[in-house]
Amino acid sequence: IFLIVMKDVWKTYPNGVMAINGIDVQIQKGEFVFVVGPSGAGKSTFIKMIYREEKPTKGTIIIDDTNLAELKERHVPYLRRKIGVVFQDFKLLPKLTVYENVAFALEVIDEKQEDIKRKVMDVLEIVKLKNKARAFPDELSGGEEQRVSIARSIVNKPKVVVADEPTGNLDPDTAWGIVDTFKEINERGTTVIMATHNKDIVDKTKKRVIAIDGGRIVRDELQGEYGYEI
Ligand code: ADP
Ligand code: ADP
Repeated sequence: IFLIVMKDVWKTYPNGVMAINGIDVQIQKGEFVFVVGPSGAGKSTFIKMIYREEKPTKGTIIIDDTNLAELKERHVPYLRRKIGVVFQDFKLLPKLTVYENVAFALEVIDEKQEDIKRKVMDVLEIVKLKNKARAFPDELSGGEEQRVSIARSIVNKPKVVVADEPTGNLDPDTAWGIVDTFKEINERGTTVIMATHNKDIVDKTKKRVIAIDGGRIVRDELQGEYGYEI
């Protein structure tokens, strides 16, 4: 039932910065989790360790029954397929259309064009951008760009989507559209983990909140609140 387990996880960067200082956490399949905390608290490091962009200095991370410490390099791509990643700055390829940006993320080995098309159009429908399939990123609003990046993150049907400040560059109304998109994905069965500074969204959404400060979990509540003054 646990999709993500961290046991006594520590991360010290090569420059000596102690970013994560003994984290224990369990996240179940299907949960929606906000990660909050001040700048420099360790939120990004926590998220990066989930998709193995960073490795812990000490401790155990288990993702979908795989102990990351025992994961062979050649098996990392299989792990990555289980995890969709969404960034604050979208990271779309500017010379590709919306359709192509999403199709590009699909494992295209031996897939029939019609299957690729069906999968891409299905996720564009979920993020409400079917009508923008032919557009290029510079023809979209920020909120639309982020929804393309969400479509890209889910097209491989990952078990979990992690998002690091996905609304950080967006105005409040647009930010709510992004959260609604994540809620939709979550209701379809995907676990969502979202680091955010958006107090209004966290307080009104009433989902699990993990608060990190100084590299430790200082609060972990179901239906939690943002809890910091901003
Ligand atoms: P947050 O996402 O909460 O702002 P981060 O995880 O980005 O926190 O950073 C936690 C601490 O680790 C900060 O002190 C930050 O400066 C430091 N840090 C983050 N990334 C690196 C890195 N690649 N090398 C060295 N220090 C880093
Ligand atoms: P149609 O195929 O009739 O245009 P669809 O709803 O099937 O309508 O597709 C919507 C849009 O998706 C297309 O108009 C096109 O912009 C884009 N699209 C579909 N398939 C591809 C493809 N293989 N390569 C690039 N873009 C595609």
